[in-house]
Amino acid sequence: MLTSCANSPTKSQENFFAMDTYMTVEAYGENAEKAVLEAKEAVVNLEKLLSVNDENSEIYAVNHGKSPDLSEETFDLITLSLDIAEKTHGAFDPTVYPITVAWGFTTDEKHVPESGEIVSLLEKVGYEKAAVSGKKVVLQEGMKLDFGGIAKGYASDKCAEIMRENGVESAIINLGGNVYAIGKRPDGNLWRIGVADPSGEGVEDRAGLLSVSDCAVVTSGNYQRSFTQNGITYGHIIDPKTGYPADNDLLSVTVVAADGTLCDALSTALFVMGLEEAEKFCRENGGFDVILIAKDGEIYVTEGLSDKFTSERTVHTIS
Ligand code: ADP
Ligand code: MG
Repeated sequence: MLTSCANSPTKSQENFFAMDTYMTVEAYGENAEKAVLEAKEAVVNLEKLLSVNDENSEIYAVNHGKSPDLSEETFDLITLSLDIAEKTHGAFDPTVYPITVAWGFTTDEKHVPESGEIVSLLEKVGYEKAAVSGKKVVLQEGMKLDFGGIAKGYASDKCAEIMRENGVESAIINLGGNVYAIGKRPDGNLWRIGVADPSGEGVEDRAGLLSVSDCAVVTSGNYQRSFTQNGITYGHIIDPKTGYPADNDLLSVTVVAADGTLCDALSTALFVMGLEEAEKFCRENGGFDVILIAKDGEIYVTEGLSDKFTSERTVHTIS
């Protein structure tokens, strides 16, 4: 799609559905149309490799006892995932998939599994039992992988790379809430990204606004893709230690960094950790910023966002 108006650079935009979510890639200027189409193609190709449901995907083969030589992208993503799993002490764990299946999160029939089923499936979970060797991934019997918590961030990095290769200096990529901002808006201002308020108290249901350039912004929370049984709401982010959906003092976690893959995996991991452990992780590790929204309504942000995040509410600094 191509639109143009006087004095402003040409805009190109593609809206599509991939990786189980709605995606938008919007770019401005020369080469924008080519870049946008290439970005869409890259996301669709990644989905073909990584989908847990597509019988022709590499991950499907891996999850069904086969051991194919992996494509560079799949190998890369497995390596990155296992690395982040180690750094987050398993709060992010790409091997949690058997548990996700037991809860029915992959189907329309979500339900609370028997506790015995969870206990026995936990034996099939654990990043430390998975390894890469040559071009292959080695799993123990019954183990399965899922990149639902990181693939959109990885795809956003690929899109950003494509924009840069094409010389695009202004673009905004939104892969189902995994945002990547390239350069500035065509009017020269920073890109402004609304941070959702899952409790719905904020202005227009926003907890605040982030003004950014050349970085990813990724939010995780259990308020999406959840279900309610006997009055209890269960979310799709699983605590790999318990096999139950993470349920702590956090409502949502937003991670901001140039590395979209890291943002995606970390937003999932910090959500599993809960407020205190997430704050500790932020103090002990650098290279990214966060906005933590607690269930009691309090907002906590790292220092790097002090002049980038604006909110009508009181914001505490993590330092
Ligand atoms: P969203 O997909 O809504 O953007 P996340 O990035 O937080 O949210 O990813 C959640 C998805 O990641 C789940 O749907 C599931 O496929 C997978 N997942 C759930 N729990 C974990 C976990 N602890 N570590 C890694 N992946 C997880
Ligand atoms: Mg994630």
